[in-house]
Amino acid sequence: MRRNNRRPISSRAMANSNSTLIRRYRPRLRKDRPLLRRFITRLQKTPPRGIDATISALIPGVWKDVKCLSCANCCKTMSPTYLPADMRRISKYLGMTVNAFKDKYLEQERGAARDWMNRSTPCQFLRLSDNKCRIYSVRPLDCSTFPHLGVRFADYGHVHHQNVEYCPATYELMSRLKEVTETIG
Ligand code: SF4
Ligand code: SF4
Repeated sequence: MRRNNRRPISSRAMANSNSTLIRRYRPRLRKDRPLLRRFITRLQKTPPRGIDATISALIPGVWKDVKCLSCANCCKTMSPTYLPADMRRISKYLGMTVNAFKDKYLEQERGAARDWMNRSTPCQFLRLSDNKCRIYSVRPLDCSTFPHLGVRFADYGHVHHQNVEYCPATYELMSRLKEVTETIG
């Protein structure tokens, strides 16, 4: 089953991002990325028993330490994928037809998936002055559920594998999970 998930667009934007959180995390994201990706691959092959419960217990601590409004890296360096229902809801909110909305803001991905994604990065709906989303109440499902931390690891392990480089919350969760699973043995 295909999973709705943002795609990285711009590694240059990542390198240039000056958000408070990314400035703090950038060296760790780079240094630990190979190690964490190997760890996630291992978990995908042989997930420890109770992994979803362990993840659920770690999530509140992650959100206590990681504040998205100090980051917005996902909106600056990745594109959400837009489902038909997202396009209908957002275009209505903006007072546009779906076709006009697509023409103005979106393009269809090449290759097999053919998902609808942003034409530009950072996302056109991100207010750069305060990292807030201008269409927050109607944002794409992919945005409201990102970074998909509380879903079954078996379904979203590959997504964490991708996002560990871009999202400090994913980085924190996977680092803490690594620590816990290695402590348990
Ligand atoms: S729609 Fe809003 S939440 Fe989604 S990427 Fe754009 S600015 Fe971010
Ligand atoms: S979800 Fe991740 S990348 Fe997006 S703003 Fe929050 S911490 Fe940053």
